[in-house]
Amino acid sequence: MSDIAIKICDLDVKKLNEELNEALAEEWLAYYQYWVGAQVAQGVQDALVRDEFMEHAKEELEHAEKIAKRLAELGGIPLTHPNQWEKKAKCKYEEPKDFSSLKLLEQNLASERCAIMRYQKICEQTHGKDYITFDMALSILKDEVEHEQDLDGLICSIKAKCGKI
Ligand code: FE
Ligand code: FE
Ligand code: MG
Repeated sequence: MSDIAIKICDLDVKKLNEELNEALAEEWLAYYQYWVGAQVAQGVQDALVRDEFMEHAKEELEHAEKIAKRLAELGGIPLTHPNQWEKKAKCKYEEPKDFSSLKLLEQNLASERCAIMRYQKICEQTHGKDYITFDMALSILKDEVEHEQDLDGLICSIKAKCGKI
């Protein structure tokens, strides 16, 4: 934590830290949702889906690390217990019950859309007020938009192949 890092933020840092911890919780849940999805995925193009899920899982974990680093600079403490993840997350964990690739993709697509709104909101709140958090949130937002596009593309190609809706 550094006083100057906090001082240059023209917003309520305590509130921001709470929000960053919510985002941190969501990243861990997103990580696990992708990771477990990659383990159970079945069906058409399952190898492709598994690879994409593992790649996204890794990227979600990188997001969690970026957020934890920013929390440290702002005097915040990252959630110290996994039981906080579900409590704090506004983007909820979507438990895989149907292991078809298509269903898993659709669940993760919904999660990505929630994540996009999360970082869109942090960008709006920090724009012109906290350049460093803004820059971080923008870089994560770009990744989430890319994730959403990747999943959407896979859903399209699976539907075209198997004709399922
Ligand atoms: Fe993420
Ligand atoms: Fe994502
Ligand atoms: Mg990708």
